[in-house]
Amino acid sequence: MKNLFPLILCFLVATFAIAQSKKNDTQDTTEVFRVSKVGARGAAESRELLMDLYAEVGKEYNANIEKESTAQKVAYQGKQVRILKVLKETENGAPMYLAAYNGEPSVVAIAGDKKFKGGDLTPALKIRANGQHETKVTREIVERAKNNSPEPTLEKSSGGGVSFFGIPIDTGGGGSISSNEVEETVTRRRVTEVKTMPKYVATISDEVLNDGPAKFSKDIFVDSLKNGNVYSVKRKEDRRCQNCRGFQRVTTTLPVGLRDPDGKMPCPECKGIGNKPWNVTYQVAW
Ligand SMILES: [Zn+2]
Repeated sequence: MKNLFPLILCFLVATFAIAQSKKNDTQDTTEVFRVSKVGARGAAESRELLMDLYAEVGKEYNANIEKESTAQKVAYQGKQVRILKVLKETENGAPMYLAAYNGEPSVVAIAGDKKFKGGDLTPALKIRANGQHETKVTREIVERAKNNSPEPTLEKSSGGGVSFFGIPIDTGGGGSISSNEVEETVTRRRVTEVKTMPKYVATISDEVLNDGPAKFSKDIFVDSLKNGNVYSVKRKEDRRCQNCRGFQRVTTTLPVGLRDPDGKMPCPECKGIGNKPWNVTYQVAW
């Protein structure tokens, strides 16, 4: 009976190893890559990743254009903008909106019968500058606790949509605030301020692009991001294991006798590889 003990122990250890190895399954994450932050100090948004994402977005963009031209879809001259909030005011009867335009929060009056709501991406508009407008904006200030992660990390997406300039999209209920910052310690503060913003008047474009939509370019990419477009890019990535921080071995939990001389064992999280496979969805935004 005494001789069976090591055997049972081995069995238990093996079972433990199998249970742990299931953890190595690919994990999913959705993260926001803010192009405006590339090059900024301490930003997690790197140039290398930007180039990769740009290439991916371009591939899909051009493929969509191909599809649309075969479907004889008509493209219009002008710019689409992201509506962040419906304002109470009107200008000459045209409803006014807080929108992402030209890389900043802007007030846009859009003539015509079409009413937009928070979160909408408008059809192509013909836009003209028209002075300034004072309006009340609520911004969310997110302060991340100094975490122990050695390098900066991208903002986890909340599923509630991407915010612009800290302004959460207001779909009517007063602005949806993201709430599932699971792995981060953050404090969120809301500030309401009266701000003077550039004002624009716009009409929905009926000017047809004869040659169809232009092929993807850096200008199209940056312009559309500045106007509140968000591109989604899915990638498979090997990321450094958070459990062993890439060192592959961790302090052992094995019983005495089975321990390695260094008192460590292969990291159960990554099976001693140091990396783990991830399915990453990047939300590429301004
Ligand atoms: Zn590991």
